[in-house]
Amino acid sequence: MISPSILIADDDVLFLISLSEYLRRKGYLIDSAENAEQALAVLKSKKIDVVITDIKMDGMDGLEMTRHIKDIYEAAVIVITGYTEEYSYEEAIGHGADDIVFKPFRYEELLLRLQRVFKERKLAQERDRILKELKALSITDGLTGVFNSRHFYHQMEIEIDRFKRHSHPLSLIFIDIDHFKKYNDSHGHLEGDRVLRETAGLIVSCIRKMDSAYRYGGEEFTVILPQTDCSSAMNLAQRIRKTIEAHFMSFPDYEKITVSIGVTEYIPGDTLTEFIHRADKALYMAKESGRNRISWLPGGQSPKTAIPAIRR
Ligand code: GH3
Ligand code: MG
Ligand code: MG
Repeated sequence: MISPSILIADDDVLFLISLSEYLRRKGYLIDSAENAEQALAVLKSKKIDVVITDIKMDGMDGLEMTRHIKDIYEAAVIVITGYTEEYSYEEAIGHGADDIVFKPFRYEELLLRLQRVFKERKLAQERDRILKELKALSITDGLTGVFNSRHFYHQMEIEIDRFKRHSHPLSLIFIDIDHFKKYNDSHGHLEGDRVLRETAGLIVSCIRKMDSAYRYGGEEFTVILPQTDCSSAMNLAQRIRKTIEAHFMSFPDYEKITVSIGVTEYIPGDTLTEFIHRADKALYMAKESGRNRISWLPGGQSPKTAIPAIRR
């Protein structure tokens, strides 16, 4: 385990040397600084877990430095003050300090406070990690690892808002595996799940960094394509279709797996539902015209009268 690193800032050099020596003997990695400027330079150059600082120093004082540290770094701060000085616990905490020690104090007391600060930091880091994991889980589809449909709706709202602000083109594609029920019936659900996972992976391998892929439900996926017009989205859809067809064809054990894809572009005034409905309608047209192909529906027209572009 790496020893925690501590930075001590104090303009009393004798105190600095003796406290550094004491904490070094307790197993900590120690840096020292005689004023705030030196301390900030150390923080800039390496990762420090805890800063112990005197409040009264020439130049920038300890409280000001604490606020500065808390704005930029993740280090915890323990401030030291003489009990005759007029700094209160509230004042120190108000500036972001994690604890305050009044001089004179025994080193053993400071050590206990340090240990408590380390423990709290560890708990806070663990809590942050768990929250991050929970957040990732809440937006991820458990089977395929792509985003889930809840996140799809959330992200669509964000992208439509962005469109309203910047008017960059925005496209949406719907992907549905062809005759998947038949595949499941003849190969079993577990095999079907494997195809779903592989299909998701293939979709992700085709899209760009700014695009995002979702499992919309069952054997249906969507991809949101920001800053992309319909013709570029058609090209991407074609790439996805061909990649999936080629992949499954290369395994003799697999029955032929193909997908149909619907593509559409956002037009100003579209509601979220209208936009999604148009992509779904385009997908339906790809299915109707024979599957394993892509179909595009332009915005601004009723799906019934629009002339779809269908491509193999
Ligand atoms: P089409 O070409 O018209 O899309 O036909 P299809 O059979 O793919 O469509 P349909 O909607 O009739 O059937 C979808 C099938 O997808 C039904 C179900 O067996 C399968 N499916 C849905 N979710 C899952 C899943 O999580 N795992 C597996 N293995 N199969 C699933
Ligand atoms: Mg299907
Ligand atoms: Mg379906």
